[in-house]
Amino acid sequence: MSHDRKSPLIGQMMSDPLLISGIIQHADRHFGGNEIVSREADGSLHRYNYRDCHRRARQMAHVIKHLQVEMGDRVATLAWNDFRHLELYYAVSGSGAVVHTINPRLHVDQIAYIVNHAEDKCLFFDPAFLPLVEAVVDRCPTVKAFIALSSRERMPVSTVIPDLLCYEELISSASDAYRWPVFDENAASGLCYTSGTTGNPKGVLYSHRSTVLHSYASAMRDGLDVSAREVVMPVVPMFHVNAWGLPYSALMTGAKLVLPGAGLDGKSLYDLFESEGVTFSAGVPTIWLGLLGYVEQNKLRFSTFKRTVIGGAACPPSMMKAFRHEHGVEVVHGWGMTEMSPLGTTGTLQNHHLNLPSEAQDAILQKQGNAIFGVDLKIVDDHGQELPWDGKTYGNLLVKGSWIVESYFKNEGGSILDNGWFPTGDVATITHDGYMQITDRSKDVIKSGGEWIGTVELENIAMDHPAVQQAACIGVAHPKWDERPLLLVVKRPGAAVSKDELIGFYAGKVAKWWVPDDVCFVESLPIGATGKVLKNRLREQFKDFRSSAT
Ligand code: ADP
Repeated sequence: MSHDRKSPLIGQMMSDPLLISGIIQHADRHFGGNEIVSREADGSLHRYNYRDCHRRARQMAHVIKHLQVEMGDRVATLAWNDFRHLELYYAVSGSGAVVHTINPRLHVDQIAYIVNHAEDKCLFFDPAFLPLVEAVVDRCPTVKAFIALSSRERMPVSTVIPDLLCYEELISSASDAYRWPVFDENAASGLCYTSGTTGNPKGVLYSHRSTVLHSYASAMRDGLDVSAREVVMPVVPMFHVNAWGLPYSALMTGAKLVLPGAGLDGKSLYDLFESEGVTFSAGVPTIWLGLLGYVEQNKLRFSTFKRTVIGGAACPPSMMKAFRHEHGVEVVHGWGMTEMSPLGTTGTLQNHHLNLPSEAQDAILQKQGNAIFGVDLKIVDDHGQELPWDGKTYGNLLVKGSWIVESYFKNEGGSILDNGWFPTGDVATITHDGYMQITDRSKDVIKSGGEWIGTVELENIAMDHPAVQQAACIGVAHPKWDERPLLLVVKRPGAAVSKDELIGFYAGKVAKWWVPDDVCFVESLPIGATGKVLKNRLREQFKDFRSSAT
């Protein structure tokens, strides 16, 4: 065969499209008997296997077709992590429509906005969210069918929602003879809106290709390390950023999957870890705070739990130490965002770190880590000049790669890339060997006398104090310095600590001018829909606070 010297020689391999339906077909054929366990609303456990899940997903694909959902139409879900939600992930995307997961913790006005913006055709919801659906039903003219994720016996009664349908009834009347269509791997598969702390939420429209590639990446040893030997429990919600890809990578690899439903308190999670032999789980720091609190108060041990990925917000060093040194649970710090499907980096040790003392290893693991292959990173200054990877210089963090957003749904916000790179809105450093560390979100950085103060480090130090349960640091206005750091602290139950003691706790740990000027003790911190502290709310609340710095 001859070829033009200037054009590449094309490989002669099959080009089967990367489709989400391929994942569930693989799970059925190769791991059909492997278990999926879900906690139901009454606390009981529902058990079935991948084969059953595939059969019901095929039945659901018929149902969706019957509901007049066409290729590319959006189908909304408002649901916890459970088996029905999992079936919808596959039935909707597999049949060529787009699964639009909605975060039930958003304000009802935002939910109504999102449903309309997405032009959702159907809305599947957990009965627990009935009041939420009733509150928006009149404002969602595009939605032609409302389906409760329920059996007939447990169907909620609603006088407001017209012709409310029952998931189990629909499934039981549908055939399981369904052939997954084959189409372009770049077709849209899922839609997730950012939480929109400023302005309206924006939609990130994932494709089959981006989702399958992200799933391969998340399964890697230095990713989430998912395999057929693991029992995986995504505590991160399926209603926000695809539960970090676990509903795909678990089925891709054959791991046993445990879905915690609505029970996210320390006791419910601990019981499930133990009864199902969970080996791996992923969650945000606020959820793990509850789990660790419960385990410590009741002097419990984990018998099978050996590894967790913590992300969504910086993992406090005290939490990492508690998991690693008190409970023998390996912690992997993960960083990403809705716009990145979400995984970008994971913090794991490299070969040459293995003989380092434990404290030095802790310091490495505290960073957000190396980019996963498929994602590239860089830091730049305010003029777009790339900054050195020396572990000290911080700059705006930009990313590019195969599962990173190119533009928002319906082109909201116009062109968002900067010379082909996506600006994350985070500020970070990168070491010579590629370990990225988030200093702050650019909108949370404190600007004091023309210099930047990173709040993450100040919060981490406070949370290392034994009397501190949670801490948040914000900038408050100052006539001379523009802004100065104010530390807000939630004390551990029964613990005592004074403002001066906490301020003294920073001595020798950061530059003097970084030390917070003041500390306010609060009952709790406002937490947003994705489990993060709402700093804009705190800034508003403390806007009249006057710093004591001179
Ligand atoms: P949204 O709240 O808009 O939905 P995401 O849930 O996508 O946003 O969160 C993305 C942001 O969360 C990142 O830009 C970063 O600021 C923060 N974040 C995520 N993981 C980490 C981490 N491990 N350490 C520090 N910050 C993190």
